[in-house]
Amino acid sequence: MQIIEIYKSLQGESSFAGLPCVFVRLAGCNLRCAWCDSEYTFKGGEQRSQEEVLAEVARLSPNGGLVEITGGEPMLHEKEVVPLMRELLARGYCVLLETSGERPLGGVPPQVHKIVDVKCPASGEAGTFRVENLATLTLNDEVKFVISDRGDYEFAREFTRTNHLETLTNVIFSPAFRKDARGSRDAANCLVDPKDMAEWIVADGLEVRLGLQIHKFIWEPQARGV
Ligand code: SF4
Repeated sequence: MQIIEIYKSLQGESSFAGLPCVFVRLAGCNLRCAWCDSEYTFKGGEQRSQEEVLAEVARLSPNGGLVEITGGEPMLHEKEVVPLMRELLARGYCVLLETSGERPLGGVPPQVHKIVDVKCPASGEAGTFRVENLATLTLNDEVKFVISDRGDYEFAREFTRTNHLETLTNVIFSPAFRKDARGSRDAANCLVDPKDMAEWIVADGLEVRLGLQIHKFIWEPQARGV
């Protein structure tokens, strides 16, 4: 499979935020989100066998723990990542899959925690989520909305209500981070003030989690491999 990088850091997002995690980042993406912070994944990387990936994960995290399969869009490599996820589960790892949900998710093992990033309008990729994937979601999974403005918030709120997402799965509303953010590690780099979003969520009575990308508050926003 075409791998950009494998490294260990802390999980920055989702309900697993703050836990040590090995990231297996695959190359290539079929979307072009306006705020994408992973454009370096669009090309390049190197071919590594499943055995090589498993060996590197074992070296970084010999006692189990979290492994996230991410990208780019890892489900573009479904024929390779599904067997990899099965093998990681068999070896006792807790496996997370970060995906846009544009590819079918029915083949993902149910023990994998899917983190599905449903695209909002300001991303420029709204409508790419495959609605049939809703049927694959359980309380083991999470749907994340990356929100750039009030319009995105209202889209996420209506999508959540219309599809009864709060009863299907865990739901995260996450302020988008400025693509050109440099230097300071603070909320001024968020396209929506987290304080505003917190107030909107409470005012609308939503049972969703406000998610901050904590790695962008721990390390400099432009840092890679964290
Ligand atoms: S789906 Fe992810 S990797 Fe692809 S363009 Fe959007 S944010 Fe970037």
